[in-house]
Amino acid sequence: MTNKVNFGDELVDPEEKTRRVGEVFSSVARRYDLMNDLMSGGLHRLWKDRFVARVKPRPGEQILDMAGGTGDVAFRMAKRGALVTVADINADMLEVGKERAERRGFTGLAWKVENAEKLSFADASFDAYTIVFGIRNVTDIPGALREAHRVLKRGGRFYCMEFSSSDWPGFSRLYDSWADKVIPRVGKVVADDEESYRYLVESIRRFPRPPVFKKMVADAGFVRPAAEPMLGGLVTIHSGWKI
Ligand code: SAM
Repeated sequence: MTNKVNFGDELVDPEEKTRRVGEVFSSVARRYDLMNDLMSGGLHRLWKDRFVARVKPRPGEQILDMAGGTGDVAFRMAKRGALVTVADINADMLEVGKERAERRGFTGLAWKVENAEKLSFADASFDAYTIVFGIRNVTDIPGALREAHRVLKRGGRFYCMEFSSSDWPGFSRLYDSWADKVIPRVGKVVADDEESYRYLVESIRRFPRPPVFKKMVADAGFVRPAAEPMLGGLVTIHSGWKI
């Protein structure tokens, strides 16, 4: 018997989830940044600024930006002098990121195709590990958290920003109708891809609520796990330390 996992609202085999998540991001890669602005009304920029302010990247430190996609978070950390490795399972997302980096004159970034569940980096390689809007797409989340812990140095910081469903009743209803009706339609018009955006909405709804994910971070070995929910938990910044 195989253990089925959720791909959005569908139950599929783990390998199929990884493959279909790959198809989603290959399909949206070229329109990803524009769609982020349209779907969040530009809010994702503020959330990412706030996230990086929490990470406090220092000049010269080694940071792994996992599921880094087209480089949005990595660019913000590189601006502060950190040496950032952008890793993602999807080569198409990284390709768009490399082109953006070139246009913006960021030369010091390393780009690497990696599965968050099984990293090629040696133990204790990084001062900080960041993952933004990435972990809900990973098939084996506890496995990815253990890998994050392994590749961090002692004293290393773990930071994750992720969506979930909000527990503010009025806001949550408003968000649900935006997510169900507007996002897939915008995806259809702008990216000619309704299905991928439907998956993104479903994956947000299925991601564990902040207290549950906080416990998963602790179970992976991180100490002082913390969760800073915004908009009633629609977006949460999680953190933890490796000692
Ligand atoms: N962090 C970027 C940002 O905030 O703009 C990109 C986020 S995008 C919503 C999610 C990313 O997770 C995609 O680039 C996707 O390829 C990546 N991803 C999904 N599963 C992954 C895995 N198992 N390992 C590494 N990256 C993964």
